[in-house]
Amino acid sequence: MRFRTGMAVILAAVCAAGQAGEGATVMNGKILTIDSHIDIPPDFATPAADPGRRGATQVDLDKMEEGGLAAGFFIVYVRQGPRTGAGYARARDAALTKFAAIRRMTDELYPDRIGLALTAADARRIHAEGKLIALIGIENGYVIGRDLSLIERYYQLGARYMTLAHDGHNDLADSARAAPGEPAALHGGLSELGRTAIAKMNRLGMLVDISHVSRDAALETIAASSAPVIASHSSVRTLYDHPRNLDDETMRALAAKGGVMQIVAYDSHLRKISEEETAALKALLTSLGMNSPAEVPGKALVIQERYAKGIQTIREHWPRANLENLGDHIDYAVRLLGIDHVGIASDFGGGGGIDGWDNAAETGNVTAMLTRRGYSDADIEKLWGGNLLRALAEAAAVAGK
Ligand SMILES: [Zn+2]
Repeated sequence: MRFRTGMAVILAAVCAAGQAGEGATVMNGKILTIDSHIDIPPDFATPAADPGRRGATQVDLDKMEEGGLAAGFFIVYVRQGPRTGAGYARARDAALTKFAAIRRMTDELYPDRIGLALTAADARRIHAEGKLIALIGIENGYVIGRDLSLIERYYQLGARYMTLAHDGHNDLADSARAAPGEPAALHGGLSELGRTAIAKMNRLGMLVDISHVSRDAALETIAASSAPVIASHSSVRTLYDHPRNLDDETMRALAAKGGVMQIVAYDSHLRKISEEETAALKALLTSLGMNSPAEVPGKALVIQERYAKGIQTIREHWPRANLENLGDHIDYAVRLLGIDHVGIASDFGGGGGIDGWDNAAETGNVTAMLTRRGYSDADIEKLWGGNLLRALAEAAAVAGK
C-alpha cells in the first residue's frame, strides 16, 4: 500500500495500533526515527540531485517529512579501489566531495529544514525544533588509506561512524566479501593499522561499524574497541545465510559491548534470490544500458519508465522481501539480544528497499508493522533510534575519559 500524505501514514499507524489491540499509539513525526544508512549520489545537493526537490531518489526532504523519518545518517561511501598512493588520494577526494555535499544541504541549501547533528543531544535538540536531522557516517575505511590523521579530519567534518571495510579487503580489515581474485582473508580479521584506527576512533568518539567486514574482523573489532560498536546495516544470518548478515555469536558479542545492530531492509539480505531472478534483472539492466539499479535515478524518464515496467514483470514471478520479512529479522534480534540492542536501516540509495518501505515517504509503514507485532511505544522509540543515540552518547563519553 502506498500513502500520499503524512496524515494518511499517521492514520494507518493509528488504525494498525487499534487492530493490534496493544494500545500503542506511537506515531512517526513525534518520535525521533533514525535511518542509520542512506547513500547519496556523487552529485548530491547540486541541481541534478537536489534533496529539496521531490525526485526519483528514495530519500529527499519531502519524503522524509511525509513519512515521518526524522533523521538519517547520510553516507560518505567510496568504493574499494587500488591500495596505492594514487588510489588513496582518489578515495580521499571522493570522500571530501561527499562530505561537502552533505554539508551543503545542511549549512547552505536547507538549514531551515534539516540540521547537522554531531551528538545525540544535537539530534534531540534539532528534533525539538521541528527540523529534520542529518548525521554523517563513512562507509569504507579505504577513505583513510594508511593515513590515520584523516580519521580526525573526517570527524571534524561531522562523521560519527565509520564502516571499516566494504566489498573487497582494505588496509584496515578483511571484508565479508572478497573482491574477485582476492583470497577469502587478507589479514585474518583486523590488521595492525585497523587496531590503531579503532583506538583513534575511540579517542574521538566516532562509532566503529562492523557491517561489511568479515566475521573474524567483526569479532576482533568488538573485542578491540573500548566503546560500543554498531552494525549500521546488517541482518540476521540464522534467518538467511548471506555473507553480509551477522551470526548469533557476533550479534551476542556486539550487544555484550553495548552495541546496536541496525537491521537492514535490503531485499537480497532478507530472502534467497535465485539465479533465474538474477539473470532476469541483469538482462533488463543490460537492455537499458545499465549495470546496476543504482543508475536508474540518473537516467532519462523514458528509461526509468521502461525499467519500472520490466521490474514489475520480474516481481510478478519473484516477489521482493516485504515488511513482514524485515519484522522477522527484527523480532529474532530482539529475542536474542533484548530490546536495547536493535535498530533499523534502509540502505536507500545503495540498493536497499523492500515492499512497503521502498522510500522515506513509506517510513510510517515500518512503525505500523512494529505496532502490529506488539512492540510498545517505548520499544519502538528504542528501535527507531533511541538505542543508536545511546551508543553514540556512550562513544562520546568514552572519548571524554
Ligand atoms: Zn553497505
